[in-house]
Amino acid sequence: MEYRNIPHFVIKTNLQKSKNTGVYFSDVATPEVLRDVCYRITGQTAFTHVYVDNDYQDMFLEKSYNKGRMAIMQYKDVVSYISFSELEIGGRNSSVQSVPTAFNLYYSNPYPKKRLYYYFLNVSGNAETDYQILIYRLMNTIGFEFLNASGSLLRRIQAFNSVEDIIFNRRINAGRNRSNNSTFITKGHAGEIEIYGKTYGANKYETSLICYALSSLWQQGQRIKLYEVLEGDLKELPEASLNVIKQMGIIDVVPTDMTLEKRIYDGKETSLRSPRYIYNLFNKLGNKHCALCNCEIPELIQGAHILPVAAIRRMHSIPIETRLEYALDGDNGLWLCENHHKMFDEGMISFDNHGGLLLRNDIDQRHMKFIDETTKYKVLPPEFLTDRFLWYLEQRRLVG
Ligand SMILES: [Zn+2]
Repeated sequence: MEYRNIPHFVIKTNLQKSKNTGVYFSDVATPEVLRDVCYRITGQTAFTHVYVDNDYQDMFLEKSYNKGRMAIMQYKDVVSYISFSELEIGGRNSSVQSVPTAFNLYYSNPYPKKRLYYYFLNVSGNAETDYQILIYRLMNTIGFEFLNASGSLLRRIQAFNSVEDIIFNRRINAGRNRSNNSTFITKGHAGEIEIYGKTYGANKYETSLICYALSSLWQQGQRIKLYEVLEGDLKELPEASLNVIKQMGIIDVVPTDMTLEKRIYDGKETSLRSPRYIYNLFNKLGNKHCALCNCEIPELIQGAHILPVAAIRRMHSIPIETRLEYALDGDNGLWLCENHHKMFDEGMISFDNHGGLLLRNDIDQRHMKFIDETTKYKVLPPEFLTDRFLWYLEQRRLVG
């Protein structure tokens, strides 16, 4: 790359939808904005800049529209990737959309002397919800420096310092607002870190960021899997994101399409672990938490079918698609710890139609005492008791 004594910006003018919206990136990254950016990065106020069209390319920009809401700045032998926020930070996804793309371009470029920045444009609207702070922290974790955060945000943005740190904060954040639950991070057996993420629509941005952040905090001995929750035949994460995850080399990516699920439930696949079922339980019930005691140790919490998989498999008169639907339905289940799951499957405990706990009457008195003491909740929360849930409960009684 050319050595530059004066900072030089190159900016793609067209955004993906500029032709429709009439908003061009040159209207956003104006010379005034660039001056501020330049000063914050280099301490210089003199700079040059050029706005370029889609067919322009160099070693940092490919032939396309402006991906990642980005400007490239070269100064001396250092290249800076600067991604800009939306003008109005409103919806939870609009603020995230361009970020993984900007990161992908930055990360994939082999040029060694590179920096990654984020710049808040004229922030109106709420740029500081808990969700957005979580996103900024993920960004900081993967290497974004915030150029003007202190003037734009009240809270300080701090990078996460461990995988556990992300899991914990994600949990709190998702707990406050159920609509945030599009990606779940938990621990499975043997302490394996599992990400269940939707990889289509707006959720793919968040899933990508979480994967990048977990990869950058990875420590020896940790195993991390991403279960991509696909919709029908669509869609894995965008290729650029998958490539970055592969390049980072930490996370195993497992696409969970319906073909896989079908194999699991028609008996050809012996494993009963169905990522999609787990995802659906997360979606209905929130984070792993035994419904009957206070156990939240993710390694000990399991998805417990109301109508058991073995019984579903025996329903030969019903089409495989319907059986699959039963087996994967978030309403056909509970989070239970290993103890309570076993008690449930052994038939020692069950539930009446109001979610009340029933104990089998032949249980030894001494064991009754143990069950009573370890079972803190004797009735299920009302939000569990959907019509579907009660129907599965009835079917469970019928198959005995
Ligand atoms: Zn329990």
